[in-house]
Amino acid sequence: MKQINITTPSKNYPVYVGEQAITKLGEVLQSLTPAPKNVLIITDHNVGELYLKDVQAELDQKFSYESFQIKPGDSQKSFENYYACQSFALEKGLDRTSVILALGGGMIGDIAGFVAGTYMRGIRFIQIPTTILAHDSAVGGKTGINHPEGKNMIGVFHQPEAVIYSTDFLSTLPENEIRSGFAEVIKHALIADPSFYEYLRKNITTLNDLKDEHLLNCLTRGIEIKNEVVSQDEREKGIRAFLNFGHTLGHAIEGELRYKDITHGEAVAHGMLFALSLKEETIQLGKNLKRWLHDLGYPTTPKNLSVSSLINRMKKDKKAAGRTINMVLLEQTGHPYIAPYQAIDLEEKLTEFLK
Ligand code: NAD
Ligand code: ZN
Repeated sequence: MKQINITTPSKNYPVYVGEQAITKLGEVLQSLTPAPKNVLIITDHNVGELYLKDVQAELDQKFSYESFQIKPGDSQKSFENYYACQSFALEKGLDRTSVILALGGGMIGDIAGFVAGTYMRGIRFIQIPTTILAHDSAVGGKTGINHPEGKNMIGVFHQPEAVIYSTDFLSTLPENEIRSGFAEVIKHALIADPSFYEYLRKNITTLNDLKDEHLLNCLTRGIEIKNEVVSQDEREKGIRAFLNFGHTLGHAIEGELRYKDITHGEAVAHGMLFALSLKEETIQLGKNLKRWLHDLGYPTTPKNLSVSSLINRMKKDKKAAGRTINMVLLEQTGHPYIAPYQAIDLEEKLTEFLK
């Protein structure tokens, strides 16, 4: 098992990654002061069915606990479920010493973190990620829910006490979810670490390669890169925006497809290809990435999308300012920068890209 220490201005905390990392849970909870009166596990039905018992087994006879399950899917990161979680917590008598365990992928991490960040003005929580994508979402303290007007529009920054990443929980991930998470690993490599990108290109030639040592390396290096960025810019006043590489268009595509038929990372993969196509120096990198993604089974960019609707969504992006859309581009691997585009110019480029 590996340990990574996350350092942010507001809090430092450990990430335990590896086989059976879940066995650390009791120890982590016992080390907290004040001792938790009780623990609430929030998960979704898929993950609950597979791993709730493993988490409960770590708590049995040591901690009093309750479990609350919500339906799977990003549309469940909603006000309704947020309210339901809060009501359940109140009913079960959680107090300011209680701890929430977010057992699941990024959807659960975000909503359970937001519940923790706002219940009685904020209680502690622990991330127990179960997807590859969650190497990204479980670290950094962004929590929240979707609003019909936009994804992740409501939320708070709230850092966990610890992240317990049991890689044995990842063995049941469906292929499209493996692709989704791996796209974020690629993103981290592209924005920050050329040699890690080369390592990935060389060693991950099929999704089957994403196991054992390679999987552990992907998760740990991805987390380290995220930590390097977030530790310098917790509240996204500057370089944290680089983590949005591929996300301006990615979010727009997810929105256009109503968060169905495409995973977050698959949409981000299209967004990265688009970003790489915008700059002469990275066009070849983009072509190579496209071929690699194709070999890994990523879907091709959907053709039936409305460019003007996509641009409208990109204008509403939290990072946009008026008619200007800020795109994260690369000078080269490891060197991201922000390029402001007039919506009208970007529309032309996007039309070309989607042809
Ligand atoms: P998810 O949590 O919706 O999980 C994807 C699917 O896989 C779900 O159906 C889930 O039930 C299932 N699943 C999860 N773990 C499984 C396992 N071990 N075995 C089998 N099935 C499993 O999605 P995700 O891709 O993990 O996360 C996406 C979410 O993360 C989005 O809401 C996105 O906005 C958010 N996100 C947040 C941040 C952040 O910094 N807070 C960063 C990136 C993404
Ligand atoms: Zn993302």
